[in-house]
Amino acid sequence: MLSPAAIGKAILDHHASLIGADLSVKRVHDAHSLVKNSLDSVAPDLKLYTFGSSTVFGFHEPKSDVDFVALRQEDIVDGKGGDSTSQLAKGLQTQVLAKLAASVRQKNVQWAVEEVRRARVPVVKVKAPHIDFDITAHRRNGVRNSALLRHYLTQVPENRWLSIAIKSWSKRVGMNGPVGGYLTSYGFNILVVYYLLHRRRHEQPEVEQKEGQDGAASASVDGKQQKELTFIDKDTLDVSLIPPIPEYLALEPPNPETLGEQVLDFFDFYLSRFPMESHVISLSHKEPITKQSLNWTKTAEDMKNNTSMEKVFYRLCIEDPYEVNLNVGRNVSPFKFDLMKKHFVKGRATALGLL
Ligand code: ATP
Ligand code: MG
Ligand code: MG
Repeated sequence: MLSPAAIGKAILDHHASLIGADLSVKRVHDAHSLVKNSLDSVAPDLKLYTFGSSTVFGFHEPKSDVDFVALRQEDIVDGKGGDSTSQLAKGLQTQVLAKLAASVRQKNVQWAVEEVRRARVPVVKVKAPHIDFDITAHRRNGVRNSALLRHYLTQVPENRWLSIAIKSWSKRVGMNGPVGGYLTSYGFNILVVYYLLHRRRHEQPEVEQKEGQDGAASASVDGKQQKELTFIDKDTLDVSLIPPIPEYLALEPPNPETLGEQVLDFFDFYLSRFPMESHVISLSHKEPITKQSLNWTKTAEDMKNNTSMEKVFYRLCIEDPYEVNLNVGRNVSPFKFDLMKKHFVKGRATALGLL
């Protein structure tokens, strides 16, 4: 069996380029000014916000896209407001994005600019020479959910490595991606944060819990102290208090053994401790919640799939913290759910496929 230290070391070796590299948010700033330049010529009153991984991690990953959203002043002032999903709201977003896409095309003729109008969230996808980005409009939820994940992952900065490791593994094994994929990076990040918040639950009662010196609770995993996360009320996240471009967060190397232990325990949690069949992975509630309580049941699944084009599944249930009644794991069919469990078993046994 692989030792936690060997697993942690393999992960750090794989991501060696992240340690001490010139990680920064410079690329994000550069892309931001390019998009802002186009936005200013069509809708100068809109403010451009960044979200997604560059916000969550506080640096720009070499191969990742950057997510932008153009927000109106009223969206920012009402920074805790919910996003409308009406056809009218979507129509307004599509109009702004069409103008923006035209301007981006005109100013950067060699870039590939694609407008996706019919998706749940209208988006413009841009492929530029060194960077890809997605642009949406008038929607605060991405800014809020990214800030929520960032707040969680910075409570104990070493935990950022678990997120980096799981996300990159999910991409290597082909489980990550909106079309044909199982979950997005966003979904995997929620799995990581939920695990970190609830790993002491569904566990043996003899586990010691004690208050850490800094007030954060610590708990013993295999006799070693790991700092526990504090629950954050997601409703407190307010766009008017979130910076439009994320502040850079230096990435310190973690203790390899702790990282290895976390990876093993992450898989153990989802393979055997968390009651996946009956419960929902959710950052919205402090206490565990059931599928039944959200009406995310087989019957609801069948009813939805009889009436709508996009299939929705309630096997792997991950409640979006801000979207109403949205399962982030909605693409995970029973077949993919089984395959995913197999990937988890294999990921555990092979140090995320690295050993
Ligand atoms: P990557 O580097 O793979 O792009 P990322 O951290 O940017 O990772 P994405 O999965 O691209 O993560 O998600 C970016 C944003 O898109 C999220 O903050 C969220 O608002 C939205 N999103 C992604 N997946 C979903 C989903 N399954 N359901 C609802 N919203 C989603
Ligand atoms: Mg992204
Ligand atoms: Mg994106």
